[in-house]
Amino acid sequence: MSPYDSGSAAARETLVDPFGRTIDYLRVSVTDRCDLRCVYCMAEHQTFLPKVDLLTIEELDRLCSAFVGLGTRKLRLTGGEPLGRRGFMDLVERLSRHLRSGALDELTLTTNGTQLPRFAADLARHGVRRLNVSLDSLDPAAFRKITRGGDLNQVIAGIEAAQAAGIRVKINTVALKGDNAGDLPAMIQWAHARDLDITLIETMPLGEIEEDRTDQYLSLAGVRAELESFWTLTPLDDRSAGPARYVRVAQTGGKLGFITPLSHTFCESCNRVRVTCTGTLYMCLGQDDQADLRAPMREHADDASLVAAIREALTRKPKGHDFKIERRGAAPAVSRPMSTTGG
Ligand code: SAM
Ligand code: SF4
Repeated sequence: MSPYDSGSAAARETLVDPFGRTIDYLRVSVTDRCDLRCVYCMAEHQTFLPKVDLLTIEELDRLCSAFVGLGTRKLRLTGGEPLGRRGFMDLVERLSRHLRSGALDELTLTTNGTQLPRFAADLARHGVRRLNVSLDSLDPAAFRKITRGGDLNQVIAGIEAAQAAGIRVKINTVALKGDNAGDLPAMIQWAHARDLDITLIETMPLGEIEEDRTDQYLSLAGVRAELESFWTLTPLDDRSAGPARYVRVAQTGGKLGFITPLSHTFCESCNRVRVTCTGTLYMCLGQDDQADLRAPMREHADDASLVAAIREALTRKPKGHDFKIERRGAAPAVSRPMSTTGG
């Protein structure tokens, strides 16, 4: 039983790191598997973890609930592709009790959208109000190339299904030098015309992939300058979504975000930690220091050791990441891909 599940409001605590940052946002990867193979994320023939290593749905619930007991207010489920994890909707249903109790402000996910036509209504029923859908091109051929075989129509149908279910959708688009650089203004217009917010993301050096990062990396500083040559971008003081910096585009009326881990560091306001699908806690996306949370869960039926392991790990949360993509052929900053740590 987590302190939260024991029902004692007094037991509810907060996690504060050594730099005074309150950690109240947890991202959990529920699987490393995916139905797509985006070029910046995975190798074409990616090796996946043995299923026995993955946390079970019960363990994922237990782990998330322990964090809720420690003050987590926002929970993002991700992957790999979270909607591809067997039993995923059961997990969402279980976790929705924390929304109903008021312990959790938000339960959300990051998805590639391909399975939203099937699952959007259930997500809405279990209290999911907002979703991030990753979409890097509106051109079917370019989309197929970036995702190595994905069907754009499925994702568009997924976005429409989520909107029809009353879920607010934000599009995440990774800016890629060769594959979508020229299409970004059209994508922003497309999103804003459909009442979708959109955030552009720089590629991050995570995991071994087959392509060279320097060939993919596109600085958003340059993209922003180009957009400003024909649009008026007014900065918004909206820090709710963490590392993104938002602007309002006067000509479209919509909201546009920029996540620039390489050209601009966002660590000073970091409020989050991440857990992999095997129960490894990473205190920073860009550093290797970690803590195993699976062992204390499997070794002890009560949560005391789990909570102690989380607390100890938080004392090691670093001040910031150390991403660089300067050198051609350089090793990634960290060897695990985003699909393992959870984007
Ligand atoms: N499969 C889901 C999806 O694509 O939304 C969730 C997991 S995916 C790893 C989460 C996000 O990470 C996606 O928006 C994806 O574009 C982004 N991502 C993956 N690898 C990345 C990288 N190397 N640099 C920047 N973003 C990356
Ligand atoms: Fe799958 Fe998401 Fe990675 Fe693309 S970015 S391969 S959709 S996990």
